[in-house]
Amino acid sequence: MGTNPLRQVLDALGTADEIDWKNYDGWLVHDTSDGKAFKVTTGDGPEFEQALEAKAGPQTRKEFAEFKDKMLQKGGVSIASTFIPPFALRGDLSAVATLFKYTIKLLRIGSKGQLLTGPFTKVMDLYDVKDKFLRTWFDYLAFALSGLDAAHTQAAPVAYMMLDLHKKDAVLDYPMGGMDSLIQALVTGMERYGGRLQLNSRVERVVLGDGNDNGKSKNKATCKGVILADGTSIKARKGVVCNAPLWNMARILEDSITDTSQEIVVDAVKGVRKRADDMCMTKSFMHLHIGFPKDGLPDDLECHHSVLDMSDDVTAEQNMVIISIPTVFDPSLAPKGYHVLHAYTAACDSFEPWSEFLDDGVDIGKVGHSPSSAAAVAYKKEKGYKELKEARAEVLWKAVERVIPDVRDRVKRKGSIVMVGTPLTHRRYNQRFRGTYGPAPAPGKDVWDLPGATTGIENLLAAGDCCFPGIGLPGVAASVCRYLYCLSSFCIRVYLTSIYRSNRVPSQQIH
Ligand SMILES: Cc1cc2nc3c(=O)[nH]c(=O)nc-3n(C[C@H](O)[C@H](O)[C@H](O)COP(=O)(O)OP(=O)(O)OC[C@H]3O[C@@H](n4cnc5c(N)ncnc54)[C@H](O)[C@@H]3O)c2cc1C
Repeated sequence: MGTNPLRQVLDALGTADEIDWKNYDGWLVHDTSDGKAFKVTTGDGPEFEQALEAKAGPQTRKEFAEFKDKMLQKGGVSIASTFIPPFALRGDLSAVATLFKYTIKLLRIGSKGQLLTGPFTKVMDLYDVKDKFLRTWFDYLAFALSGLDAAHTQAAPVAYMMLDLHKKDAVLDYPMGGMDSLIQALVTGMERYGGRLQLNSRVERVVLGDGNDNGKSKNKATCKGVILADGTSIKARKGVVCNAPLWNMARILEDSITDTSQEIVVDAVKGVRKRADDMCMTKSFMHLHIGFPKDGLPDDLECHHSVLDMSDDVTAEQNMVIISIPTVFDPSLAPKGYHVLHAYTAACDSFEPWSEFLDDGVDIGKVGHSPSSAAAVAYKKEKGYKELKEARAEVLWKAVERVIPDVRDRVKRKGSIVMVGTPLTHRRYNQRFRGTYGPAPAPGKDVWDLPGATTGIENLLAAGDCCFPGIGLPGVAASVCRYLYCLSSFCIRVYLTSIYRSNRVPSQQIH
């Protein structure tokens, strides 16, 4: 079984080979502070180190090469990070040691366990990484993983990413057909086990009880099913797994209290609300989706680009723009002769300027309407919205101009399309509280201190980025792996995963 948790889920479902992956070897980073771009090339060849030297000088290259060798050598931190699957890696490694399967591996990790669960900056300090540019580079890598800098990102995934990028023959994989093919593989696998995907079905409430209604006094808040927005009630035979962000889940639970005299239920829901209120969050996104004629553009255009000011904090407001042009790999995604492009500010757009367009300026934790209904988008007509949207999208246009200088002219041509999404769009389509990327460490904490799957309510489990190990598809898959792990190793209980997604548009495709 591979170490990538997303691969583990696909392997467990038996659909890993149904995806047609296109291999590629890297991406371009454009530093706006000096106008220089450099290519991050995967594999163990000299290309990346040469690019680092051309960009930042020989000292950066030297420190990188020494650091990489130490990390990737036998017994190094990157190798140690592969010994424990991410779903078993917790802040408390001793808890994992109780799982016999991992005891031997943990013994091999030895003192590196502490390092792996702490912030990545501690690893850099240990190995004497002093070069300013190199430290910024690792802030960038950490940010790509977690939306946070290296001082606030757990070392294990960054160390693992170093290995994944720089080992012999390492390549990047693009799923042909886009994210939808990945989603389809998950859905096919789920259906193979008797599951069913039901789209456009917002869960309005869950059915809660105090466990005393079937003659067996349990005195425990219990979840028995869900009620959809159209009133349909679905009974859970085993339980409900909820991957709505924790803040939204708290709201669903509050709406689900039908009898305030059921103190056990009320207290359990208050517990989830407190957990949500205590959890800090990362910022939101601006999105630019365009389709435009590709005539005259180079055939070897890179698909992926990051545009940022590397002399500034990588987490600074609107600093990091990510661009992808998937039609470089998969022309079938656009009409012949056209490219599609998505650019977004990566979790570095504050929600605050947008709150005023919500009723009473507050996000109540649910959209409350179908995302495309007139009521859901009423804010678009409010004074100042259009102007703010245009102003905040400017950084995206400027970033895209670094890759396609005449893009603003191209999108005026026949057959082109331009769609701009704001943090409100992100919130609405993805039903994400305040349009957030996901959780962030609490003030004073280095890394995430995220809850596990249990909610304090029997038969209601949480999954997704608000659970350990956090943001990102591998992390989210790992939160699901924990169930698979329970099933395969202990057979303690079979939980049925009910997937209720309101739509099938992946986060990356927001209109
Ligand atoms: C622009 C962008 C780029 C990204 N790029 C990457 C990347 O390259 N690599 C990577 O690993 N990660 C990436 N991520 C992060 C990754 O997409 C997220 O961490 C991951 O999708 C979170 O999964 P989740 O299941 O926890 O939450 P979500 O993906 O938000 O899923 C929750 C689902 O629940 C639904 N929902 C909410 N409330 C209800 C309700 N009441 N009833 C029914 N359904 C409901 C929502 O509509 C949503 O579909 C990116 C994210 C964004 C926004």
